[in-house]
Amino acid sequence: MRVFAEAIRAGASGAELAALPVPESYRAAVVLADEQTMFDGLASADKDPRRSIHVRDVPTPELAPDEALVAVMASAVNFNTVWSSIFEPVSTFGFLSRLGRESVWGARHDRPWHAIGSDGAGVVIRVGSAVRNWKPGDRVVIHCNHVDDQDPSAHDDSMLATNQRIWGYETNYGGLADLTLVKANQLLPKPGHLSWEEAACNALCNSTSYRMLVSRNGAQMKQGDVVFIWGAVGGLGGYAVQYVTNGGGIPVGVVSSPEKVKLLNSLGVEAVIDRRAADYRFWSDEHTQDESEWRRLGRDIRDLVGEDPHIVFEHPGRQTMGASVFVCARGGTIVTCAATSGYLIEYDNRHLWMKLKTIRASHFANYREAWDANRLIAKGMIQPILSVTHPLAAVGEAAWQVHRNLHEGKVGVLCLADREGEGITDPALRQRVGEDRITLFRRLGA
Ligand code: NDP
Repeated sequence: MRVFAEAIRAGASGAELAALPVPESYRAAVVLADEQTMFDGLASADKDPRRSIHVRDVPTPELAPDEALVAVMASAVNFNTVWSSIFEPVSTFGFLSRLGRESVWGARHDRPWHAIGSDGAGVVIRVGSAVRNWKPGDRVVIHCNHVDDQDPSAHDDSMLATNQRIWGYETNYGGLADLTLVKANQLLPKPGHLSWEEAACNALCNSTSYRMLVSRNGAQMKQGDVVFIWGAVGGLGGYAVQYVTNGGGIPVGVVSSPEKVKLLNSLGVEAVIDRRAADYRFWSDEHTQDESEWRRLGRDIRDLVGEDPHIVFEHPGRQTMGASVFVCARGGTIVTCAATSGYLIEYDNRHLWMKLKTIRASHFANYREAWDANRLIAKGMIQPILSVTHPLAAVGEAAWQVHRNLHEGKVGVLCLADREGEGITDPALRQRVGEDRITLFRRLGA
């Protein structure tokens, strides 16, 4: 794949890239089926991605008619990289064997290794015979909604498709690699004003936050809404905050250190809670929640913005959901897409039904939503939140940092790109948007 990297760097045309032979194997970050029980008996926090993620060569898959092979210049760590690598809440090999039973093409995914990764930016080097809108040489970013469009259930909102999967988590041949296999309907045009690593870090978290807050499938935030955001400089939160400020909402962000408070202030958020300093104890023991602590959080929000949140942007799960349901305003919406701290949730249902609140479930984004979210990045209206990059060889360390919450925003990974800053084709737009805004998380991150 180095030959492709050099050709791309030298500005090779699509025809020239199409003429280069695709290697029989390529470098990828993998977890291994025969290691999927290696952490049994350990606490989650002690399960170490540096032990379970290996960077090694894997065979290049055959290309199906509706797919593309992309030379990956850069990728990013997502929290699902952590889930894959600690084999929680389930090992991903079950997903691969189910996909393997589905069709002849699906069988390619069922391997004793899983090439992981659900974000990427790069250049198309091959397309299948049925691909119409993309060709070798196209510079792309990849969104992770993997859908078989011959399934009728995929044709309203494709996130409702019965065979909907997350690429690189529930499929093989993911983005933390020098090459990746994707459906053509996962491709989006790469924003020209961003480098490879800045472009690669957005699609998964940005599209998810877009659906949760802006899309008609989510909370449908409107001007003036108070939006309470957990993890406000994390992967999801860093985009959520931008959607709220862009859309005329009033963000209240929660973070866990003075450095993160400063970063959030620089994103334009004045109403900030440092949860560590406030030391909320929503759970008095493993089985009991303390309503007086929910009330304390509610008072803190009212002290900051004078009212209760119309929308609560929820993803920590078990630790916070009771409080999230409680602090949400009468008639408001708790929109949830995850449960980092535990998926068996407890909340007091009286606070939900008596005050006519709604819990809205959300999961990634359909192609339209991912396209629209990418368009906002491409217009410079939403900024990447890249805080640091690691080489592919160090992806285990990168995943460890995300697992232990030692990061801000997104953690990038250089694949075929040798260094940061490559791949910018629209320097004029970059200048108009402003270097300071594009690199905020790298400048102010810890
Ligand atoms: P990050 O780790 O980048 O950010 C999450 C932030 O949440 C952390 O930075 C932390 O911020 C805060 N947080 C973590 N644990 C707690 C807790 N117990 N209580 C309060 N706050 C907490 O992760 P992402 O934002 O990328 O993802 C968050 C979750 O969403 C993950 O579980 C991920 O798998 C899931 N997800 C789901 C998607 C979907 O499509 N369904 C898409 C993307 C992510 P701080 O310490 O500053 O408060």
